[in-house]
Amino acid sequence: MVPRRGILLVLSSPSGAGKTTLTGDLLTWDPSIAFSVSVTTRPARPGEREGQQYYFRTRQEFQRMVAKGEMLEHAEVFGDLYGTPRAPVEEEISKGRDLLFDIDWQGARQLRQSELGRDVVSVFLLPPSIADLENRLRTRGQDSEDVITVRMERAEDEIGHWTDSEYVLVNRDLGDAAAQLRQIVMAERLKRVRQPGLVDFVQELSDEFRTKQ
Ligand code: 5GP
Repeated sequence: MVPRRGILLVLSSPSGAGKTTLTGDLLTWDPSIAFSVSVTTRPARPGEREGQQYYFRTRQEFQRMVAKGEMLEHAEVFGDLYGTPRAPVEEEISKGRDLLFDIDWQGARQLRQSELGRDVVSVFLLPPSIADLENRLRTRGQDSEDVITVRMERAEDEIGHWTDSEYVLVNRDLGDAAAQLRQIVMAERLKRVRQPGLVDFVQELSDEFRTKQ
């Protein structure tokens, strides 16, 4: 059986729109989907572990990785550097596995323009309101007031790029948004180009016609 082509699922949204929760939900629903762990220069938040949410590196280490061509994409977000290491993505894709990316619009754009662009499926998650977004950032309780102010400013910028994505979800209800995200994955997996095994299968169907004649 020819393996199915993997999907590079890019979920974009401003901070606080529920992206982390949706990401967790999708990975629980289908544990075969791999999460692309990014490299960042920002400090770890409480509860974050090296190699789970991020690989935490110094600016110098990050820039060295970029110079060596080890980043598939990279961008500066909120004054820190973020990037996707190339090797794990290429490894997972070659195994026909789907990958989930939590990256900003700049990274999503670079990924779409990369040699893996045709495998990208992009989804934008919008908050139901800006008040809701701010509320979620506050109740998360992980960021200082200054950071929240910066993130609210950046939210407007991120939302400005919603038309870059093929799919758009409004997170009015987390359960609904999670179900819609699963539907997107299911439909994308069924695209003809992602099912190379169909060529042989349909050939077998044709052969069966002929043997009946
Ligand atoms: P946070 O610091 O809240 O985890 O992430 C801040 C922003 O950086 C989010 O919008 C997130 O999607 C984005 N981000 C995380 N990892 C990457 C990455 O590897 N590349 C890019 N371009 N953005 C990233």
